[in-house]
Amino acid sequence: MISSTLPALDAHAHIAPDVTPKQIAALGQSVTFAMTRSLQEARQVRNRRDSALVWGIGVHPGVAAARDGWDAEQFAELLDSFALVGEIGLDRRGGDLARQRSIFRELLNIVRTEPVLVSIHSTGAASEVVQHLHDADMRGAILHWFNGDANDIAGAIETDAYFSVNAAMSEGQLRLMPPERILSETDFPARKVRARKPADTQGIEQLLSQVWNQTPEQVRSRVWWNLRTLSERSGAMERLPEALADTLLYL
Ligand SMILES: [Zn+2]
Repeated sequence: MISSTLPALDAHAHIAPDVTPKQIAALGQSVTFAMTRSLQEARQVRNRRDSALVWGIGVHPGVAAARDGWDAEQFAELLDSFALVGEIGLDRRGGDLARQRSIFRELLNIVRTEPVLVSIHSTGAASEVVQHLHDADMRGAILHWFNGDANDIAGAIETDAYFSVNAAMSEGQLRLMPPERILSETDFPARKVRARKPADTQGIEQLLSQVWNQTPEQVRSRVWWNLRTLSERSGAMERLPEALADTLLYL
């Protein structure tokens, strides 16, 4: 069966910018979206070419130093080197919400017309994040660990959003989300998810296989097809690492 040979897909994790090839090899056959939290971190990884990782350029809303280092011009210049933006968004407990909002607005206005995937944080601010997507006419965002209610999910889908989900989410929450919009993630090193390392997606694949009444292999195949659709629609396909684009095109 072809699907069983697909690598694990981790659409949101945190990996140190100085990770070594040996450490990456230890992740096994997998593809991980590696978020950065600040422009400073993004600068450190911009020239890396790791076939198992897709590095993101991010400004974490809950990290004060990342907000202090925000600069729209520098972001726009760095963005050319990235196929992925993340993480960005809003965090209710992250402090200085006014500043978070203005940065998020600026970011969405820059990325909405770029051929990139965009991973969005929305802790405690699900409805407001969806409102921002509408206001900015941002299509095809990936809402990571999204805890919004059915209304928020419907509003997000109106903007063609996807959801990257992990093993700490409830079955009830996962049932609200359409299978054709789901990607798997670990949010490593988030303790609640209990992934042993980035790309350890076994827990969420098991959970989705219960929710969807499918085998874990079918679940993995589903999330890869979803990523393919999103990569084509967003135009990110042309910027993704070649090995990953090949995996997507030959599904
Ligand atoms: Zn994150």
